[in-house]
Amino acid sequence: MSNFCCGASKVGRISSVVNEDLLVHQVPVLYCPVCKDVEVHPDIKARVDMLTKHAKANGFSELFCQGKLDIHHYDELFENCSTVDRGNQQGVVQSQIDIALGLLTFAQSINDEIWEKELKDRLSALSKKDLTNSK
Ligand SMILES: [Zn+2]
Repeated sequence: MSNFCCGASKVGRISSVVNEDLLVHQVPVLYCPVCKDVEVHPDIKARVDMLTKHAKANGFSELFCQGKLDIHHYDELFENCSTVDRGNQQGVVQSQIDIALGLLTFAQSINDEIWEKELKDRLSALSKKDLTNSK
């Protein structure tokens, strides 16, 4: 699973996304807190695509996924994610900073300068996050 973006792994959360021009709610996604890239979780992408096509064919403008994805344990879905966002923004940012610092030490120890630069950019983006104003 290519869960890496901007130097470290993406964050898992349940979110609303636009999939094939349809607004889809309650979708497990992976997002990058730095560049804001969001993707539907690869394990359920095919299922979400199918539901999206079905909803569009039936003329719906929105789709609510709760109960339609055959997911019983969201924790299992996100077990490969270093961080899971459960609405605690400050906790997510702090956890992401800790992870990036750990990876930075590792990148330096193997002299991977490109990764090191990505991680430094990541840390500066994370530390600039306005926590009082993020939603
Ligand atoms: Zn990114």
